[in-house]
Amino acid sequence: MERFQDKVILITGGGSGLGKATALQVAKEGAILSLVDLNEQGLEETKKEILEIVPNAKIALIKANVANEEEVKAYVQETINQFGKIDGFFNNAGIEGKQNLTEDFGSDEFEKVVDINLNGVFYGMKHVLKVMKEQGSGSIVNTASVGGIRGVGNQSGYAASKHGVVGLTRNSGIEYGQYGVSIKAIAPGAILTPMVEGSLKQMGGENWEEAGKEFVSVNPMKRFGKPEEVGYLVAFLLSDHAGFINAAVVPIDGGQSYKY
Ligand code: NAD
Repeated sequence: MERFQDKVILITGGGSGLGKATALQVAKEGAILSLVDLNEQGLEETKKEILEIVPNAKIALIKANVANEEEVKAYVQETINQFGKIDGFFNNAGIEGKQNLTEDFGSDEFEKVVDINLNGVFYGMKHVLKVMKEQGSGSIVNTASVGGIRGVGNQSGYAASKHGVVGLTRNSGIEYGQYGVSIKAIAPGAILTPMVEGSLKQMGGENWEEAGKEFVSVNPMKRFGKPEEVGYLVAFLLSDHAGFINAAVVPIDGGQSYKY
């Protein structure tokens, strides 16, 4: 029996990178999918790739901005209207923001990054937890980052938002375990997705591929992570096999966050 047969999995940021890789993985294992993103073209692309591998997959695409609570409420309601329940929630959409020293980190930029990465994750948890508490079951995986458990530098907004995601995960995991709901966070290191490509372009301009090689030279495994490696981890964390993992933050970074 497939791990996600008859399970409804809701994913934000499903139009690219880690959200897309996870959508593909859980779809291969039988999941019914509700995919949320601001980028409709990205969502259509994810759906197309899934249907090539799983032609009978059930997939709802919902355009929403995770930083707008009304739109979050609406994507949760739309998922319930279409599929009647939410078994797993990958609360993942996020941005990196511009890189700068703290004194030069614009207040508008700080607000924007925190609005999407932290408020967006909070709104998602708030509205999905109501559903899961009533069901008496469910698993939430929030996307934090190595930048949510370590200092990386030049990322005030990102660091604040991702440390906040870790705090929300620990706090709510403690509250909701008693209702049969587990809440985890992942802390990815550098995984080669469009977001990291954008970040390397900020650092290295046209020579961004060279900047990438230098970037991973300090990683114990000397390489970037692959989106599908994150997909395998998140699929496990969303599955019943990970039902007793709660309030935990799982690094997936080649060991970089443990390095002195
Ligand atoms: P990505 O840019 O490939 O994908 C992010 C997706 O989120 C995009 O499709 C984008 O349209 C969507 N999105 C952005 N803002 C949104 C909003 N306001 N509302 C709805 N959708 C929105 O990036 P990714 O690398 O897949 O990143 C996914 C998550 O993983 C982010 O939270 C990111 O911070 C985190 N992360 C990534 C890495 C990495 O190395 N790639 C490392 C650590 C953490």
